[in-house]
Amino acid sequence: MPKNLSQIAKSKKIKYFLISFVDLFGVLRSKLVPAQAINEMQKNGAGFAGFATWLDMSPADSDMFAIPDPNSLIQLPWNKEIGWLASDLYMDGLAVDASPRVMLKNQIKKLSEKKLQMKSGVECEYFLISEDGSSIADQRDIQSKPCYDQSALMRRYDLIKEICDSMIELGWKPYQNDHEDANGQFEMNWDYSDCLVTADRHVFFKFMVKNLAEKHGLRATFMPKPFNNLTGNGCHAHISVWRNGKNQFLDKKDKLGLSKLGYNFLGGVIKNAQPLSAFFNPTINSYRRINAPPTKSGATWSPSSISYTGNNRTHMIRIPEQGRFELRLMDGSANPYLLQAGVLAAGLEGMDKKINPGEPLFCNMYADYKKYPNLPKLPNNISEALNMLGNSKVLNKAFGKKNINSYIKLKRNELNAFKKQGRFDKKRSVTKWEKDNTLDC
Ligand SMILES: [Mg+2]
Repeated sequence: MPKNLSQIAKSKKIKYFLISFVDLFGVLRSKLVPAQAINEMQKNGAGFAGFATWLDMSPADSDMFAIPDPNSLIQLPWNKEIGWLASDLYMDGLAVDASPRVMLKNQIKKLSEKKLQMKSGVECEYFLISEDGSSIADQRDIQSKPCYDQSALMRRYDLIKEICDSMIELGWKPYQNDHEDANGQFEMNWDYSDCLVTADRHVFFKFMVKNLAEKHGLRATFMPKPFNNLTGNGCHAHISVWRNGKNQFLDKKDKLGLSKLGYNFLGGVIKNAQPLSAFFNPTINSYRRINAPPTKSGATWSPSSISYTGNNRTHMIRIPEQGRFELRLMDGSANPYLLQAGVLAAGLEGMDKKINPGEPLFCNMYADYKKYPNLPKLPNNISEALNMLGNSKVLNKAFGKKNINSYIKLKRNELNAFKKQGRFDKKRSVTKWEKDNTLDC
C-alpha cells in the first residue's frame, strides 16, 4: 500500500504540499496544494501546461499531470506546514518519456533487471553572491587560496548551520561543511544513497540552499562559472553498484580496489564522456569551467581530458578509495536526474560490452597534459557537446532518439537566443545573458 499523504498531513500537521517536478533544463516547478486536496492529487496528479516549461511540448497538448511519489516526501525543516514532493509526469495516462525523473527511472529499471542497484553521492558546490550577482557576498573573502578558510566559513555560520541542521533532521547524515576553493564558495556533504533518492535530495538541496540563503539576506548560486577568474561550481558524483547490500565495485585485491565490473562500468563512462557532457555540463556557461586556464587559486579542479587515475584530483575520474569512483565532470547546472541517468546509461553499456577503460594514468594531468596528446578531449562548448550527443548511438538507444532530439532542440533554441545577444569567449568575462539565465540554475 502506498503511503497515504492525506493521513500523513494530519499526523504531521502539514497544511500545504509542494507538488514538484524538474524539467529538461533542471528548473524546479511546483504547485502549492492545500492538504485537503492532496488525496485527489495523489491519485490523479497536479495539472500543468507542459509547453510552459522546458519540455518539448506544444500549447495545443493536453494537460500534463505531476503524480507525486509519496516516498519522496520532505517536511520542510524550516517551515513544517509544508511537505515537498518529487513527482513523475504523465500525459493522456502515459508517463512522459522525455521528462528527467522518468528518464532516470527507466535506466534504473534496466539495471534492476540485472538485480543491481546504483548508489551515489553528490558534492554540490555553490557561491554566496550579491543580490545582482556582480560579486561575491563577503567582501572580506579575498585570499588567493581561500579553500577551507575558517574565518570566511564562520562568517556564514548561521546559514550553514541551518542547512546542516535541516539535513540532520531529515536523516541525510551530513558529515562536513567547508569553504571551497573560490572566494565566496561553499560545499556541504551528506551520505550517499540509492541514486533516485540522491537525485531527489539533490533537487531539494539546491532549493533549500537558495531558499535559506534568501532568508538570511543572501543569494546562492550553483552556476558553473559565475566569475571567470575563480574556480567554478562542480558537482562531483561518487558511484558504486550494489547487489543484495554488497558493493559489487569492491575488490580488495585490485591495486585501486575496484572490481572487473567496476572497471567495465567506468569504461562505459569514459567512452561516453563526450556526448554525456551535454547532460553533465548543460549550459553555455558550463564550458568556462572545463578546458579552462588555471584560476586565481592555482587550479581549476575541473577536467579537460578524458582520463582516470587513483587518488588524484587532476583527472576526470578519480578512484579515491576502494569500491567506488568519483566523476568530476559535472557542474552545478547539471540536471540532478539526467546526471544520474547519464552515468547509469554509460555504465550499463560498459558492463554489457565489458568495456576496458585502459590503464589508469598516474600523473599531474594539469601539468602533464601535453605528454598525452592522444587522450580524447572534452567538448569546448555546448554546441559541440550537443553534436556529440546527437551522434551518440549509445545514448540515443538508451534514452530514445525522440527524447534526445527533444533535448537537443530545446538546447539549440536556447543557444540561438544567446547568440542574438552575445558571443561565447572564455577569455572574456561572463556575459549578462549567462548571468541572467544561469545564476538561478
Ligand atoms: Mg569540492
